[in-house]
Amino acid sequence: MIALAASRRDWSLPALEPVLGRRITILGSTGSIGINTLSVIEHARTVHGPQALPIEALTAGSNVEALVKQALSVRPKLAVIADENLRPRLVEALKGSGIEAAAGRAAVIEAASRPSDVVMVAIVGAAAIEPALAAIRRGATVALANKECVVAAGSVFRDAIEKSGAAVIPVDSEHNAVFQVLGGGDAGEVERVTLTASGGPFREWTLERMRAATPDQAVAHPNWSMGAKISIDSATLMNKGLELIEAHFLFALPPDKLGVIVHPQSVVHCLVSYEDGSTLAHLSAPDMRTPIAHALAWPRRISSPSRRLNLAEVAKLTFQAPDLERFPSLRIAIDCMRAGGLAPTVLNAANEIAVESFLEGRIGFLDIPRVVEETLNVADGSNANDGALEGVLATDARARAEARRVCLRAR
Ligand code: NAD
Ligand code: MG
Repeated sequence: MIALAASRRDWSLPALEPVLGRRITILGSTGSIGINTLSVIEHARTVHGPQALPIEALTAGSNVEALVKQALSVRPKLAVIADENLRPRLVEALKGSGIEAAAGRAAVIEAASRPSDVVMVAIVGAAAIEPALAAIRRGATVALANKECVVAAGSVFRDAIEKSGAAVIPVDSEHNAVFQVLGGGDAGEVERVTLTASGGPFREWTLERMRAATPDQAVAHPNWSMGAKISIDSATLMNKGLELIEAHFLFALPPDKLGVIVHPQSVVHCLVSYEDGSTLAHLSAPDMRTPIAHALAWPRRISSPSRRLNLAEVAKLTFQAPDLERFPSLRIAIDCMRAGGLAPTVLNAANEIAVESFLEGRIGFLDIPRVVEETLNVADGSNANDGALEGVLATDARARAEARRVCLRAR
């Protein structure tokens, strides 16, 4: 669906000035992507002056101290904390600052609905579904870092984008790379899109060793510094499975045109192969500030403070097929993509619960795919074809409850 926006050359290149004048809302500003977004904005201001990329709103989940610090520094019109209990702390800390303070889930959705030009969706998990939809429905440009919302509610997103005509620019590095490589081309001429995977910290570990893996070991990603949830997903390779489903929806590509290749250096982010035998790749140093800058300025480009690629230093780029035996999460996700319906909704919900349980030390690392698979066995969702948001949210809630039961049994 984004491919439509990317490939139709019905936009003309705007002047840089209006691009730098875009008002930005950051949902999830205190997380890894949120902090990197603020770093890109700060850099733009040092290059282009303090008026560049003004901030409309910042939102966070529960880290009220970090939110207050950011708000007092970048001075948005509105700061929102999702956790209602933290409302008094936020209100007190922003008193007299001229920055409006709000709290609760509805206030996060309201922040997304306020008039800004670009909404960066950097909330983690399915909690991003409704805020992201609010931004899409009002026709904002959406810089989409969150992948769980598209996996859980792909057809709802597709319909909402078609209806509002919102431009959705993927920030997930592989999808941002595909978006760039597709450029002005016709997605119909694409034979195959291959997403690269670093392989995560356990790329060379045996199953036996993975059985005893701790949360600390699993979050220690070799190439990227990211939030805890996506780091665990990278260690199980579920991240790549979620990304296949994300690409399936965003670029309207059938499952058999999508593939994964393990590339430990994380320099090549995607390969797009065309029916004439050409394969185009996107390369950059592994630094999220590159896709973030691209998404904020699209279709222009702005300077980013990200690391630059030095291929002589990298010296060697290697590639290997993913091992679906040692990383069953990827296989399960591929099955869900093929099954369709609400199977990806169940997959995502069960995975969120399993990852949370692993991080809290309640289940082992290899229990993560087991919990997901057992949840899918009970409530696979593939027959449910309810494309409406209510159906997605109800299926998500049921799958979470079932996954919690499976986690209790796994102990
Ligand atoms: P993170 O955990 O570092 O940050 C998450 C942000 O969301 C925080 O600001 C947190 O306060 C907020 N949040 C958490 N729960 C919330 C809730 N229920 N309601 C409202 N806000 C809530 O996560 P991250 O690593 O920045 O990842 C964010 C998203 O971007 C994820 O979907 C991830 O898959 C995707 N992504 C991240 C990276 C990366 O490099 N970190 C790369 C590609 C894609
Ligand atoms: Mg990615």
